[in-house]
Amino acid sequence: MTYLTDLLIAGELRPGRGGPRDVENPADESVLAQVNDADEQDVEEAVGAASRAWRAWARTPEPERAAALRRLADLLAEHREELAEILVAEVGKPVVEAEAEIGGTIGFTSHAASLLETRTDEIRYTGNRNEEIWTRRRPYGVVAAIIPWNFPSALVTRKLAPALAAGNAVVLKADEKTPLSALAIARIVAGSDLFPPGLVNVLTGAGESVGRALVRSSATDLVTMTGSSAAGKAILADAADQVKPVSLELGGKAPFIVMPDADLDLAVRDAVASRHMNCGQVCIANERTFVHESLYQSFVERYVDAVSNLVVADPRDRATQIGPKVSGAELDKTLDSLQRSVSAGAKVLVGGSRLGGHGYEKGHWFAPTVVGDVTDAMPVMSEELFGPVTPVTVFDEWDEVAARANATRYGLSAYVYTSDLSVAMAASRDLSFGEVYINRIGPEEVNGFHAGFHESGLGGDDGAHGLDGYFRKQTVYMRY
Ligand code: NAD
Repeated sequence: MTYLTDLLIAGELRPGRGGPRDVENPADESVLAQVNDADEQDVEEAVGAASRAWRAWARTPEPERAAALRRLADLLAEHREELAEILVAEVGKPVVEAEAEIGGTIGFTSHAASLLETRTDEIRYTGNRNEEIWTRRRPYGVVAAIIPWNFPSALVTRKLAPALAAGNAVVLKADEKTPLSALAIARIVAGSDLFPPGLVNVLTGAGESVGRALVRSSATDLVTMTGSSAAGKAILADAADQVKPVSLELGGKAPFIVMPDADLDLAVRDAVASRHMNCGQVCIANERTFVHESLYQSFVERYVDAVSNLVVADPRDRATQIGPKVSGAELDKTLDSLQRSVSAGAKVLVGGSRLGGHGYEKGHWFAPTVVGDVTDAMPVMSEELFGPVTPVTVFDEWDEVAARANATRYGLSAYVYTSDLSVAMAASRDLSFGEVYINRIGPEEVNGFHAGFHESGLGGDDGAHGLDGYFRKQTVYMRY
């Protein structure tokens, strides 16, 4: 397959003026493509074109904007197979998961159209006769959207579609490790004539250079970023000087709590699936499995058995459940966290190392791993762990496990398995997480609201609340 490597800048598809960068296939370490990053001048041109394009777009009636987004969703669906193939190649994501992600890429786009068609403004009374207050939603102008590598296709439209729906222009920066999905979408947008030139720009390049330039540009009006908490804090600091609004979807350390009355088969199946999706590289993944002491032994036996049977193989193969880690650096982080925990007394129950031998000679392969005898202070329990490693621990009662689950700087997602309605209600009340899943795992629904508490984020994506984040609120005092 030939990959598209042109950036979309001011309505034109062309290579960036920055240096070349190899895009690696993590399954075999081959070079898939070489992409020329954007440089500062490219950023300026993209942001300038976006600034000129958004006002006319914002005046385009809502049904027309919605129709353009629906048409874009159709075009994305026409390219479904090719987009999935790119994801498999640049992330190492199993093909079945890649296809599901493209479903999300399309779904975020058409759903933004639905949200736009049903959005409302507000009219309120004042203390005066013949007067009303209108609270109107107005676009910000130019949105800088910055995304990571773990969902490099769906996250493009998760940000692009609602931003455009609200009447903004967008300059999106793909992750430097996985730019090919975003560039393929850029080509589909550019070839469509659905949007005025300059309204949508897609750049690649490092966070430190291109990302920072977008945040610090005086011509970007809102920053929306998905990525690590560390980068989110750096962005907040950079945006502070202009008091620029920032929406951040950051890291997580989700607890997965199995109560004594849980459906054990369901809990084991979902705990395994939630930990191993995308080789464990998911912000809402099960990162800390807490099992009630009455079920602990049987849960661990079944969990280890299920993990031992996971198919770790070529991500292009439909039977594959786990592909490689996205990069050597990401694999090293997982190994380091595991090794520090083992040195502190954690016991490896299965896996525990990188994979070698036949089929794994090249690429960043890691054995699905389960660890017991963990304490809450160990790295596998306290630091974000973006890999197929499950620490399992035991608890006695709800208040204890809720306190331990909450004892993290993150607050994105939490899972509780129970058949007791009062426990389910207590979970939604006591857990300090933006998303609480009862008896089910992710992925999120397009009509939910994906937003982390604490260091997991600010603002949020999806649904009516997500769309609302792309509007400023303007108050008009109307006396007549
Ligand atoms: P990262 O923060 O290093 O990079 C993410 C993006 O931010 C990249 O495009 C990068 O170039 C850019 N960036 C980095 N520093 C920047 C800066 N100072 N200014 C502007 N842009 C900058 O993230 P990562 O480690 O590659 O991705 C994984 C992280 O993303 C994990 O922590 C994961 O939990 C998080 N994540 C969160 C969600 C969510 O919805 N909450 C979804 C997916 C991933």
